[in-house]
Amino acid sequence: MLWHVKPFLVDTHCHVHFPAYDQDREAVLARMRDKKIWAITIGTAMENSKQGIAFAEQHSDIWTTVGLHPSHTTHSHEDENEGAVHEKDVTKETLIEIAKSSKKVVAIGEAGLDFYRLDQVADAEAAKAIQERVFREHLLAAQELDLPVVIHCRDALTRLAEILQDVGKIRGVVHSFTGTWEEAKPLIDLGMHIAVNGIATFQKGFPITITAAESGGVLDTFGTNRANVVGDPNGGSTGTIASWFNKSAFAQPAPGVFGDSGRNILRAPGINNFDLSLFKNFAITERMRIQFRVESFNAFNHTQFGGPVTNVTSPQFGQILSARPARINQLGLKFIW
Ligand SMILES: [Zn+2]
Ligand SMILES: [Zn+2]
Repeated sequence: MLWHVKPFLVDTHCHVHFPAYDQDREAVLARMRDKKIWAITIGTAMENSKQGIAFAEQHSDIWTTVGLHPSHTTHSHEDENEGAVHEKDVTKETLIEIAKSSKKVVAIGEAGLDFYRLDQVADAEAAKAIQERVFREHLLAAQELDLPVVIHCRDALTRLAEILQDVGKIRGVVHSFTGTWEEAKPLIDLGMHIAVNGIATFQKGFPITITAAESGGVLDTFGTNRANVVGDPNGGSTGTIASWFNKSAFAQPAPGVFGDSGRNILRAPGINNFDLSLFKNFAITERMRIQFRVESFNAFNHTQFGGPVTNVTSPQFGQILSARPARINQLGLKFIW
């Protein structure tokens, strides 16, 4: 259905097939299509990986992965909204078999190490050993299938880099990376992609109502009179700052008559915006470091337009006269000693 459309971007890590989206999944997908966003919905256990495949098979703009999240191998974290249970006997063979069942499987994972809160487990060392074994099975499966790995890592970056080094020849992405430059460097040297945290805003534009001059007298609506619809508001060339909608579709109603256009019939421009932050530590002496920070608001520098002039009697009717701030990059240096 959407194969011929180039995506605006591909969300490489979401879990839209999870039960957590049962209430509003279709609405989420509709918003994504509206913005030309494709997605890879990530499996975190064997059963939900199979469900991810079934879901991707039904949607031309969705791809998926097969994996067992480290948190599901040993300890506490079981979210009923994820539909996952403890599994620790996953093997390379199982992963390969499931992954080969569909062309929509584009990666192995998410898999990795999560040592956060392992102190709450009876035997933390045993838990780490299980996570490591399971992670290695994923890496071997990915090598054999020549697929990238989606890696989840929390509080275990050093060990992670050692394992990747040991297994060798792996490509993939370390998602939601929150470590330091020193921790990122060995992973980058191994050819890994690092996904940094960002805040993305996609907001549909606010609804707008097309207004008109007052009729006055007993028909005065105190500033809320509406224009008449005399054509197709979405006809002709629209979506530009000179003409956000079809201006000639509206007219001032005759004196003594209310306008017949509905409330909120059009939408102002929406927002699509990415804020990113990165930092890098430089060692000057053993005790002194400089932290270099880049914080970028609206990183891709998409112009974010304000709303159009909505009064049909205005000479600037239908035009957009304002915009939100363009890209702001904040560069900062911080001494740490
Ligand atoms: Zn995830
Ligand atoms: Zn994760």
